[in-house]
Amino acid sequence: MLVLGGGIAGLSVAYFLKHRDVPVTVYDTMDKPGGNCRTIRIRDFSFDTGAHRFHDKDPEITVQVKGLMGDELKRISAPSKIFDEGRMLSFPLELRDVFISMDTSFMIRAGIDLLKSRCGKRGADDFESFAVSAYGRSMADRFLLNYSRKLWGIPCHELSSEISGERLRHMTFVTLLKHFISRRYAGNAHYEGDFYYPERGIGQLPEMMSARIGSENIQLNSRVTGIFHNEKRMEGIEINGTALVNACQVVSTLPVVDFIAMMRPAPPQDILEAARALKFRNIRLAVFFIRGRGINKAATMYFPAGRYIFTRGYEPKNRSGFMSPQGMTSFVAEVPCFADDWAWRADSPAFTEKVREQVLETGLVRREDIVGCADERIAHAYPVLERDHREKMVTISGYLSGFDNLEISGRSGLFKYLWIHNLVREGRNIAGRVAVRM
Ligand SMILES: Cc1cc2nc3c(=O)[nH]c(=O)nc-3n(C[C@H](O)[C@H](O)[C@H](O)COP(=O)(O)OP(=O)(O)OC[C@H]3O[C@@H](n4cnc5c(N)ncnc54)[C@H](O)[C@@H]3O)c2cc1C
Repeated sequence: MLVLGGGIAGLSVAYFLKHRDVPVTVYDTMDKPGGNCRTIRIRDFSFDTGAHRFHDKDPEITVQVKGLMGDELKRISAPSKIFDEGRMLSFPLELRDVFISMDTSFMIRAGIDLLKSRCGKRGADDFESFAVSAYGRSMADRFLLNYSRKLWGIPCHELSSEISGERLRHMTFVTLLKHFISRRYAGNAHYEGDFYYPERGIGQLPEMMSARIGSENIQLNSRVTGIFHNEKRMEGIEINGTALVNACQVVSTLPVVDFIAMMRPAPPQDILEAARALKFRNIRLAVFFIRGRGINKAATMYFPAGRYIFTRGYEPKNRSGFMSPQGMTSFVAEVPCFADDWAWRADSPAFTEKVREQVLETGLVRREDIVGCADERIAHAYPVLERDHREKMVTISGYLSGFDNLEISGRSGLFKYLWIHNLVREGRNIAGRVAVRM
């Protein structure tokens, strides 16, 4: 069994196959497994490839992950915050906070807009219409649309309402109102503040999976460069432009765009075009090492304002004390970008300097406390869920499902906004299906 890609999706397939004693080899182009779910260590500081947490959303999968990680997996309670004009508001947004902290003219405008949106008809199924109908124009602009424009890099009316995911589905106006009247009524409508987190960073999960799979079964620095097939079955996988490995059963978690582009013979024109039209958003991290006990206790801080190029920032030590040395903290800013944007191409000093000046502007950190910095690029961080992405993926999936020894998984492979627990579940399902075919 060949697994292409050693991120959490590929490792999960391999991990559950090993449980079933099915021989497996994972290929990954990087020098470490984990893909976009890694922990990077620089000097005595650790930080993840973006603010990660393990959500307890699929009880069976939580049990599996606890079984693997044991005491290393800790239950954390650390709510997130929204940074709005120097104030910290609750995340997800609470009406109570808005009423207490906003100026009167904004509140009047927001109230009128909210009433208008409740009386008006719900618009098209795009993210902008969804946000405006749920919160009214003023609140949607200030807290959701500015942020989403930065995160996804395209206008919000071109985004599918799916980008709101689980989080906003629960945060209807009625929930907000109930919570405003009494926190008691909101029940467990959102779960942002409670999560699991490994003591040494999220990368401990892929590291522990890799240890169970066995390093001899994970081929690192092995880039898939060609995918050969006979229109019905995968026949061979080319690694690093030379070695050809026979394909008996293949699971690909590679970005679907790359997979299609590497297929030989090339797929039909409509498939190539559908794949080429899919976009991915990258993230570049700017990391600052800071003297002092900490900025605040928030798990993650959201920065909706357009004047900051970063969307989120976080102190890794608020997830685990092992992430920073004693008396120090660090602040990681996430800057979303496309591959041809300045933020992706800029050299490290120029990039970190720009972000540092903006972080200083927030007033959260003092210049004299910053003792060092680093940066990290995360490619294929998010599939950009444009309004027509489903049609494109139906075309592509229909074509790929015609290969009887091929399974697809992964956030970029399936082009879905999937979380770690979804990918572990998917890995278990695929391993179950494939094992009976071997
Ligand atoms: C900023 C950020 C924050 C997140 N926060 C959370 C969170 O809090 N909770 C949560 O559950 N999830 C979170 N996620 C999502 C989670 O990290 C991803 O869903 C998950 O890492 C995706 O795993 P994957 O295996 O599908 O893809 P990837 O991790 O992208 O793995 C794909 C692998 O394929 C390899 N590859 C690519 N091309 C080739 C090639 N040609 N040949 C060989 N190998 C190749 C790559 O090197 C990579 O290792 C977050 C993601 C990001 C970006």
